[in-house]
Amino acid sequence: MKPILPALLLLACTLVWTSLAAPGTPLRILIIDGQNNHKWDITTPVLKHALESCGAFSVEVSTTPPKGSPAEAWAGWKPAFGQYAAIVSNYNGEPWPEAVRKDFDGYVKGGGGFVSVHAANNSFPEWKEYNQMIGVGGWGGRDEKSGPWLYVKEGKLYRDTSTGKGGAHGPQHEFVVEIQDAAHPITRGLPKRWLHAQDELYSRLRGPAENIKILTSAKSDLTAEQEPNLMVLDYGQGRVFHTTLGHADYSMLCRGFYETFQRGTEWAATGDVKQTADIPSDFPSENQLSVVELEGHPKQPRPVAKKP
Ligand code: ZN
Repeated sequence: MKPILPALLLLACTLVWTSLAAPGTPLRILIIDGQNNHKWDITTPVLKHALESCGAFSVEVSTTPPKGSPAEAWAGWKPAFGQYAAIVSNYNGEPWPEAVRKDFDGYVKGGGGFVSVHAANNSFPEWKEYNQMIGVGGWGGRDEKSGPWLYVKEGKLYRDTSTGKGGAHGPQHEFVVEIQDAAHPITRGLPKRWLHAQDELYSRLRGPAENIKILTSAKSDLTAEQEPNLMVLDYGQGRVFHTTLGHADYSMLCRGFYETFQRGTEWAATGDVKQTADIPSDFPSENQLSVVELEGHPKQPRPVAKKP
């Protein structure tokens, strides 16, 4: 019997590999949270639902030690990035241990997928590789030394190298998102302009902004420019989808956020959008908001703030 066992093991491994690679099999995704100046404990379940509700993903969550934890607590936090098709960050907090940063950089550089959601782009102002991955970020002392302010002017990507702080937003409001690149798999077939639920409109983001494409933008009342909301980047062999949308659960429950987050995560994981390509019949239009109902989460928490 002995010689048969290795052969059986090999067969079993081949079967597992085949099923992992088969089209239609849920993509394994890891969401990282644990520290944020936003309510990560409320928004992570929405992100998880957004991915799992479309059937294309299976999602696990890894929560870092809380702020101020000793090094021993951090020593026990070592996500196995390589087991996932993409990593989603809902994290904005203390630096990760150096070994984890190195692992993460190697994972994305080596062909992994990364999705940065809203305040994840506030994180790690001093981590050079992370800023290359996200392209642009805000706050945390970011300024002209972090890189140019990136926006869209007359349909073209514009890099403003003048001095100034990186990161700004006015009061939350609903705003129209405009497609700037309709050919990308993430935006293909979506309405040119659609109304996004109450959110912060991130503006004046700065960073190295290399190997970056702006897929959508929205006109900021603060800067009067078209500020990027959805971006894609190449980083080594890996792919990064960066959404600045998603301040709160009610912002994420926008059908437009759900659809673009699903597509962006599939694209980061595989380089294409197949399983999530169908456009829902209730996708928002330029004038009509569309909100996903999820138990325990408000559709709109308060009257929409007046524009500044
Ligand atoms: Zn926010």
